[in-house]
Amino acid sequence: MEHDMKEKNNTLKPYTIAIDGPTGAGKSTLAREIAKRRALTYIDTGAMYRAIGLYVLRRGIHSEDVGSIIQLLPEIELSITHKEDGQHIYLNGEDVSDEIRTPEASIYASNVSKIPEVRAFLLNAQRQLAAQGNTVMDGRDIGTVILPDAEVKIFLTASPEVRALRRHNELIAKGMQSTYEDVLEDLIWRDKNDSTRSTAPLKQAEDAVVLDTTGLDFEEAVAKADEIITSKLSGRK
Ligand code: C5P
Repeated sequence: MEHDMKEKNNTLKPYTIAIDGPTGAGKSTLAREIAKRRALTYIDTGAMYRAIGLYVLRRGIHSEDVGSIIQLLPEIELSITHKEDGQHIYLNGEDVSDEIRTPEASIYASNVSKIPEVRAFLLNAQRQLAAQGNTVMDGRDIGTVILPDAEVKIFLTASPEVRALRRHNELIAKGMQSTYEDVLEDLIWRDKNDSTRSTAPLKQAEDAVVLDTTGLDFEEAVAKADEIITSKLSGRK
């Protein structure tokens, strides 16, 4: 996995922030804002599962055909770069950052992410991306599996209805087709799929701080996250 880690100007000792939580909790928007304010590099790990899902989809393989998917892994090379408009992900050299966002790619991502070999394929790459510190990484298993020693762990959540409405509005704003009912149904399905799988299921790390954004607007959520981060970092030896 290649990665263009930007020079950062942090005066603090390097640190990592892990943000986990269910679909549509607002992890990526929050993580991006924290990264901007604290001059950290933001890594969106969901994009990696989505890129693998997209490859499987393009090859016409069913997202639950585990044996065939495992065989495809050696053909897949992912890389990440950071540009003005955020993280870009490349699948065998092609920028697929937009294509991985379709509802079909979401379903494929959730299904391929259940396969232990797929998770193992991404584990080291994700750890390497965070190895230099000054990183905020979001996903489902960052605080529990990928970065168990992260200095700050936030478990971000909100009610399914609020998450579905936010996701629906995002898709509409991007000019994509969407209905609230379909988004809610997809989200409930993905919550179940992500939290009941046997390898690295979505769950809160014991030392994570829960941040429920159900009644909060974006600025309020950022302020709460900021408080959590400042308090965790101030307690560091
Ligand atoms: O975060 P995002 O919705 O883009 O992730 C797409 C899918 O990838 C999730 O539904 C989840 O199944 C999977 N995923 C995961 N572990 C991560 C990040 C994402 O299993 N660390």
